[in-house]
Amino acid sequence: MFASMSHTICPDEGCERSFVDQDVLDRHATTVHGAQDYAMSAKQRDKHAAAGVAMADKSFPIPNVEFLKKAIRAFGRAEESRKPAVKAHIKRRARALGAEKLIPDGW
Ligand SMILES: [Zn+2]
Repeated sequence: MFASMSHTICPDEGCERSFVDQDVLDRHATTVHGAQDYAMSAKQRDKHAAAGVAMADKSFPIPNVEFLKKAIRAFGRAEESRKPAVKAHIKRRARALGAEKLIPDGW
């Protein structure tokens, strides 16, 4: 398991920061970007990961279309080695949400 080593990228468009600690990211997103909706409790994140809403390491939570859009924007800044898995996750969630039209051409 590499969960403890992976970075979660700030979902805000144009923000270059990534974080090892999800709680620090939540605080950053809330305080720097005012992204109230991004902050999630640890319990919610566990539930999302278990349900496949987020990836196994709890990154890229996509419970709804707003998060889907954020995930698509954040994808470009994902670590190279993770990109295939992240892309597959985003596409799977887009299908589940009935929002495949948001998936970029060529994915
Ligand atoms: Zn940020």
